[in-house]
Amino acid sequence: MENYFNTGKKELCNGCGTCALRCPKSAIEMVEDGEGFLYPHINKEKCINCGLCEKVCSNFNKSEQESVAYIAINNNDKELKNASSGGMFYILAKYVIENKGVVFGVTYDEDLNVIHKYAETLEDCKQFCGSKYVRSDLKNTYKEAEKFLKDGRVVLYTGTACQISGLKSYLGKEYDNLILCDILCHANPSPKVFKLYKENLEKKYSKKVKDIRFRSKEIKWGDERTLIELQNDQVLYEDTFKNAFGKELINRRSCNFCVFASKSRITDFTIADFWKIEKVKPDLDSTKGVSLLTVNSEKGKSLLNIFKNNTSILEKVDIDVAAKYNHFSNVPAHKSRDKFFEGIKKGSINSDNVIDVMNKYTRVSIVKKILRKGKRIAKKVLRK
Ligand SMILES: Cc1cc2nc3c(=O)[nH]c(=O)nc-3n(C[C@H](O)[C@H](O)[C@H](O)COP(=O)(O)OP(=O)(O)OC[C@H]3O[C@@H](n4cnc5c(N)ncnc54)[C@H](O)[C@@H]3O)c2cc1C
Repeated sequence: MENYFNTGKKELCNGCGTCALRCPKSAIEMVEDGEGFLYPHINKEKCINCGLCEKVCSNFNKSEQESVAYIAINNNDKELKNASSGGMFYILAKYVIENKGVVFGVTYDEDLNVIHKYAETLEDCKQFCGSKYVRSDLKNTYKEAEKFLKDGRVVLYTGTACQISGLKSYLGKEYDNLILCDILCHANPSPKVFKLYKENLEKKYSKKVKDIRFRSKEIKWGDERTLIELQNDQVLYEDTFKNAFGKELINRRSCNFCVFASKSRITDFTIADFWKIEKVKPDLDSTKGVSLLTVNSEKGKSLLNIFKNNTSILEKVDIDVAAKYNHFSNVPAHKSRDKFFEGIKKGSINSDNVIDVMNKYTRVSIVKKILRKGKRIAKKVLRK
């Protein structure tokens, strides 16, 4: 079977780092490449060719689970406001914390690096709410999760499907007390580009960036802007990084070949935005956010019965209909992705110009805009 180790192909490595953690000789180190993503680097002097790195490689989707899809919304307005979609993550977190469990999720550290971390109180779980559109650093969380599981604590581990595949591979066995929830993910942007973006903002506005909230629901769900909070509580809206992520300019190579982007999910739950909900359920008030929740396992099914009281709507929907409007298959890279990353590697794209360059590559030309508008009008006329 082809993998990163026997081919050297970057599209076959999702960067989970399980190989490095499990190597019996500590011969593997995860090293950042010029694009800002981690890849295993083997120290040939320490390596004994045991082949365990290939065996534990997590970049395979062996799932045959059949999922059931739901339209779901958290019934608590405050919790819904803090969430990117319909606030399903927080409902899961609440259940786990109420059962004296531990929740793993993604947050910012003090320098706005995106990292995985655990929380043991509901207050602490709030930092995980909201999408941070950057590849997170998993830190020591696989080992920490294993310890909690062995101590008998309930553990909820959330992350992208590839990160959860890495955890499963690291653990090497099933745990009844482990709940797995992946966020439906179409790609992971480069932490290095994110850092340059933050520095470019700081130079432009001569102030430190305190916070970046990609999905601020101030306007309306679906029309969210990226809210940048600067020192002295100055706030501005700036979407360049999010646009470049959405247009596949700044993402990890393996994301464009993702083996988990499918209806066969590897977790107990998958949470996503319910895009185009207006086509599926036109009468639903979707202004505050709607989740697409898929329940993927027997464990998920029995837990759902406990959660349903925390939702204002939990309605079954055909998974094929839901999947039609979302990323259950691979998304190709932007045509200038490699050129962009060449500039990052050489340093010609840097903290002085990264915003302008990302804008240049992702700007929609006036001709295209006019054509798109024309198409929309033509469709409306034909429907009448
Ligand atoms: C990189 C990325 C790509 C995504 N792509 C899609 C997509 O194509 N289609 C779609 O419908 N939804 C996508 N999402 C998911 C969506 O944005 C919401 O996160 C999801 O619907 C959960 O929303 P919520 O309202 O339940 O809870 P929220 O409170 O919004 O979500 C919080 C959860 O997201 C996790 N999280 C936040 N940032 C990250 C990160 N960088 N990496 C891993 N986990 C993270 C937290 O740990 C927590 O579990 C993506 C999210 C990320 C981070």
